[in-house]
Amino acid sequence: MSDLPAYPPQGRTPRPALWADVPDAQWDDWRWQLSHRLNTVEDFARIINLTPEEIAGLSAPNKFRVDVTPYFASLIDPDDPDCPVRLQVIPRARELEAFEGMMEDSLAEDAHSPVPGLVHRYPDRVLMLVTTQCASYCRYCTRSRIVGNYHATFSRRDHDLQIEYIRRTPQVRDVLLSGGDPLILPQPVLEDLLHRLRAIPHVEIIRIGTRVPVFLPQRITDELVDMLRKYHPLWMNIHVNHPKEITPELARACAKLADAGIPLGNQSVLLAGVNDHPNTILKLVHELVKMRVRPYYLYQCDLVRGSGHFRTTVAAGLEIMEALRGHTSGYAIPTYAVDLPGGGGKVPVMPNYLIAQSHDRLVFRNFEGYISTYVEPTDYQRPKKTKWVPDPPLAQQQQRGVAGLLAGEDTTIKPEGWHATHTQRGASFEQPPAEAQPDETELPIWMRMH
Ligand SMILES: *Cc1c(COP(=O)(O)O)cnc(C)c1O
Repeated sequence: MSDLPAYPPQGRTPRPALWADVPDAQWDDWRWQLSHRLNTVEDFARIINLTPEEIAGLSAPNKFRVDVTPYFASLIDPDDPDCPVRLQVIPRARELEAFEGMMEDSLAEDAHSPVPGLVHRYPDRVLMLVTTQCASYCRYCTRSRIVGNYHATFSRRDHDLQIEYIRRTPQVRDVLLSGGDPLILPQPVLEDLLHRLRAIPHVEIIRIGTRVPVFLPQRITDELVDMLRKYHPLWMNIHVNHPKEITPELARACAKLADAGIPLGNQSVLLAGVNDHPNTILKLVHELVKMRVRPYYLYQCDLVRGSGHFRTTVAAGLEIMEALRGHTSGYAIPTYAVDLPGGGGKVPVMPNYLIAQSHDRLVFRNFEGYISTYVEPTDYQRPKKTKWVPDPPLAQQQQRGVAGLLAGEDTTIKPEGWHATHTQRGASFEQPPAEAQPDETELPIWMRMH
């Protein structure tokens, strides 16, 4: 067996000279990593050659919080201002520039929160923000309005209210813990949350969205993993954007989690200058599946303050998706999604493969441009019961959406105010009162109706 390659890979990421003398035992201690995070010009200048734009970004008084673990900082190329790791965590002055469409809360999460930090957008699942703290801070953070603020994290009382809402809302079968980063919570606090959620009979799955394995793989200890595995079915999404973030340390953290039976997914954000190239994403998804991490979503950048210089066109994303489908394993292909501004949720976008349709034929093209016809069956019998019954039942009838139209449940979906607009139009056309109708006999013959 010893002739097989080691899995997960051995070895460690080389460290900059500054930390060469730190004993491995300290470097591998997540507490040491957290308490030695870099956040000032002086800190970063000791390991990288800062550009004037970075110095301006780091010196700006009202910037979004900066903090980078020594481990993640050690992945930065000190001499490359365009290093994709560096761009994600070191601010540049440009991030303060406003752009058209920019919002503080572009996904309208606050408006969709029945209690603080609990976003209930979809019928059967909720997003539960459990902390505002992270191991390091991504410059394009979609929740920069709350994340990073020491003074405004979620309290025990907020957690109680969030859990009480879930307990009283039986259609919630999936709870997604996020923040901030749930794996930054003290372990007993996280365990208490998982315990209380698992005790709710209608909560079928619990998910954790975290970048801790990427920023702070040292935190994925046996002790943490042994705690997590008690709360199955538990799923986890990590957040890797570029192959440079994939190290032996991350691979070992993922192996621990996967060995504990936690299915792993990855959510990337498409970022200009970081990963907006088909070869970069191809390499990334291949490295992910090697770690048993299934690429889950590739997000279009949100319209949030700080992300202006990271935005790509959707066309750039579609071109990347074109380079994936057919060219590599289906398992390696994430869903490219735009999280709709205003709170519409995630919608998938894909290149078009269906190019024409008639009553009995579909014409498709594949990734190579090969065009072929699929002939529809003529004797297809739909199941007897075609009416779609949501399970669990929907509290909000409107959320049946387009599937509800197909089921014949409704015939239209109208924008808010649509009815009033159209009836007012009729009402504003003033009919002359009945008694004011002229006597027909006084009208010329050609205008009379009788
Ligand atoms: C992303 C998100 C979810 C989960 O969506 P999935 O497509 O099921 O992964 C749930 N609630 C909110 C508010 C979200 O933003």
